[in-house]
Amino acid sequence: MEYLLVCEKTVKKKALRSHMGGHILRAQMGVLEDNVKVAVSEVDPCGFCGQSGHRVRLVKEGRKWTFQPSSTCPFTVPFSLGAAANSTKASPSTNAPIRCTLCPSSSGDRGVVWKYNMAHRISTVHSGRNPDQPLPPALATAMKVSRSEQQALGIPQDSIDASDDEPDTNPQTSGGRKRKRAATVGGENSKRSKNKGRA
Ligand SMILES: [Zn+2]
Ligand SMILES: [Zn+2]
Ligand SMILES: [Zn+2]
Repeated sequence: MEYLLVCEKTVKKKALRSHMGGHILRAQMGVLEDNVKVAVSEVDPCGFCGQSGHRVRLVKEGRKWTFQPSSTCPFTVPFSLGAAANSTKASPSTNAPIRCTLCPSSSGDRGVVWKYNMAHRISTVHSGRNPDQPLPPALATAMKVSRSEQQALGIPQDSIDASDDEPDTNPQTSGGRKRKRAATVGGENSKRSKNKGRA
């Protein structure tokens, strides 16, 4: 089965979430798209159709241990949260429901939003929050959109947040190599390792 989308293209069911994720991210990043006939909603766009008003939840069904996304959207396509968390060539968008940990845990499903919509939620629902205060690390990680994902979804280079770190630029690896070389030259390494031992 195939669906008609905001761009009036049809895509395979399996590709719908990632395809729509691209439209949503581009809309949120201010990238204009000539081929979009129906604008993606500015407020809480649904990860399947791009319109607002389709509530998303995380549910445990039957005897399953893991949470499954569930939505009131008529275009809902079942998918696994684990698979969606990885940006791949075939499915670059990681847009999936995540829990807003700034909401009290008692709020249940009201704290569940699509990943790409979390920044908007923080600036609206949680606008009373001190913006200088860092986000809870788990939430910051959950809502992070990597540079390669943004590139794969057609975000222009100059719009991509430069502060975003990719795992391939690892300063720790090069730093470690440098330190080792310095130790060989200085020859102080043996003394230090003797003192330190193991606690
Ligand atoms: Zn499209
Ligand atoms: Zn929808
Ligand atoms: Zn919240």
